[in-house]
Amino acid sequence: MPVLVMKFGGTSVATLDRIRRAAKRVGVEVAKGYDVIVIVSAMSGKTNELVGWVNETSPMYDAREYDAVVSSGENVTAGLMALTLQEMDIPARSWQGWQVPVKTTSAHSSARIEDIPPANINAKFAEGMRVAVVAGFQGVSPEGRITTLGRGGSDTTAVAFAAAFDAERCDIYTDVDGVYTTDPRITDKARKLDKIAFEEMLELASLGAKVLQTRSVELAMRYKVKLRVLSSFEEQSDSAGTLVCDEEEIMESNVVAGVAFSRDEAKMTLVSVADRPGIAAKIFTALSDAGVNVDMIVQNIAEEGRTDMTWSCPTDQVKRAEAAVHKAKDAGVINFQEVIADTDVAKVSVVGIGMRSHTGVAAKMFQVLSSESINIKVITTSEIKISVLIDRKYMELAVQALHDAFELEKAG
Ligand code: ASP
Ligand code: MG
Repeated sequence: MPVLVMKFGGTSVATLDRIRRAAKRVGVEVAKGYDVIVIVSAMSGKTNELVGWVNETSPMYDAREYDAVVSSGENVTAGLMALTLQEMDIPARSWQGWQVPVKTTSAHSSARIEDIPPANINAKFAEGMRVAVVAGFQGVSPEGRITTLGRGGSDTTAVAFAAAFDAERCDIYTDVDGVYTTDPRITDKARKLDKIAFEEMLELASLGAKVLQTRSVELAMRYKVKLRVLSSFEEQSDSAGTLVCDEEEIMESNVVAGVAFSRDEAKMTLVSVADRPGIAAKIFTALSDAGVNVDMIVQNIAEEGRTDMTWSCPTDQVKRAEAAVHKAKDAGVINFQEVIADTDVAKVSVVGIGMRSHTGVAAKMFQVLSSESINIKVITTSEIKISVLIDRKYMELAVQALHDAFELEKAG
């Protein structure tokens, strides 16, 4: 029988009543003839509570015990979902990660899935089980300890199961009804997309559209898993939600698919560093050794052998970045006059695979911002994305203006 993967996020299993509603959806797919693998998150808020307990007990916690504690939320919902399905006379069984087993690396709290042997679950399907309910977000390390995949990791569990079981589709049930051209809280002209290409979704996900964990999209792209994002609170139909798919499956689309933003950016500048070979390598090695995630980088034109180096990184890494460059200066590795941090910035990006074949997107973006008198502080581009750093107070205005200018309220 064909396999379908259905993943229910925290809000979709937040109460026993919602678990019942989710189970009814599963029942509909079982009636269509699918063997279903259900991936569940913890009840909403549960994982945060567990993380809080760990931090309160042991601020410098042992990551193996962190995983032992925070993985437990999913165990509860997996068991409750299996019981609910059984009450509906649907043969179902729950599985924790180690039972499947979901084999991961031993990088506790951010482990990667290495392998999901399908034999155990397939044997149960062969015996007549119709639904395997699997606790998302967790696995087992080569040492035999419980691991977790990082926050939001049950999306990745779902995609990995879809790949391992060659599922027809992976449906991600959540509290929004799909992927939008931008956050509907910023503009009511935001439009739900019927389809979006993997590459576009990857950019949007990593830019902070928190619908899917970025790694789940990477995995779906690599294994060509058809992903559908849809709401568990609305009526189900075959065209509901947004399909994340290969770009070949998208006939017609706008040049720009969406406008993404991130409030959580800081701009840092090293003033007056020597302009000679190897300096950039030294600066960014120091930052990366300190675990700073550098995003945009700009080097100014040099004057008299000195230049300024600017980069952006998450706001909460500014302190760490400052410490790292000062340490490198004290060690005589680099030299600079001062380090300036601007934490009142935001990143706004336009994303679309159409940019590969259309020119003028950057020019239009900059014109729109200039007509709103918004100053651009840093620019970066990739093949399908243009990002700018601007003052945070203009972020919403910029998103609205760009959404209007690229006519994203209209389907392509
Ligand atoms: N429960 C975990 C979290 O809140 C995993 C997930 O829901 O995806 O991060
Ligand atoms: Mg999530």
